[in-house]
Amino acid sequence: MRCPYCGSLDTQVKDSRPAEDSTAIRRRRVCPDCGGRFTTFERVQLRELTVMKRSGKREPFNRDKLARSVMVALRKRAVDAERVERMISGVVRQLEQTGEADVTSEQIGELVMEGLRQLDSVAFVRFASVYRNFREASDFEAFVGELAGYKPELAGTAEDADDARDSAGQAKSDDFKR
Ligand SMILES: [Zn+2]
Repeated sequence: MRCPYCGSLDTQVKDSRPAEDSTAIRRRRVCPDCGGRFTTFERVQLRELTVMKRSGKREPFNRDKLARSVMVALRKRAVDAERVERMISGVVRQLEQTGEADVTSEQIGELVMEGLRQLDSVAFVRFASVYRNFREASDFEAFVGELAGYKPELAGTAEDADDARDSAGQAKSDDFKR
C-alpha cells in the first residue's frame, strides 16, 4: 500500500482489527520513510457495480468517492466514525442488492440522503440542498466542491471556508489509501 504522504511503497501494518460489526478489517499503517500514519479498510465486495451518469458516461463504482461526499457533509459534526462507515457500507450493500450491475448517480444520491437523514440532520440538510441542485449535473468533483463550500444562511466565516478547503484536500489524499 503506497504511502499517501510521500509515495513510498514500503508501508507497514501496525495493527489490524475487525471493524463495522466485523464486516471490515481496519489496518493502521505506518510509513518507515516519512513516519506518516494512515488507516485502510478491507471489505467484502459482493458485486462489481458500474455507475451510469446522466451524461451517459459509465464508470466503475467507487466507494471512496461516495465516502468523500458523506465526510464533507458531516464536516465538524460529532458523529461516531463507526456509524458513518456502517452507513456507507449500508448504502453500498443496498446498491449491490438492486440486482443490477448498473446503478445511477441518482440512486446513489438518494440512498446517501436517506442514510444521512438517520445519522445527522445538519449533514442531511447540507447534502440534500446541494444534491438537489446537482441532479442535472454529472460532475462529482464539482458536487463535492459545492458541498464543501455550503453555508447554512449566515454562518459563513472565513474560517469555515478554510476548513472546507482543508477537508476537501483531506478527502483527496484519502484517494491514495487504496
Ligand atoms: Zn511516507
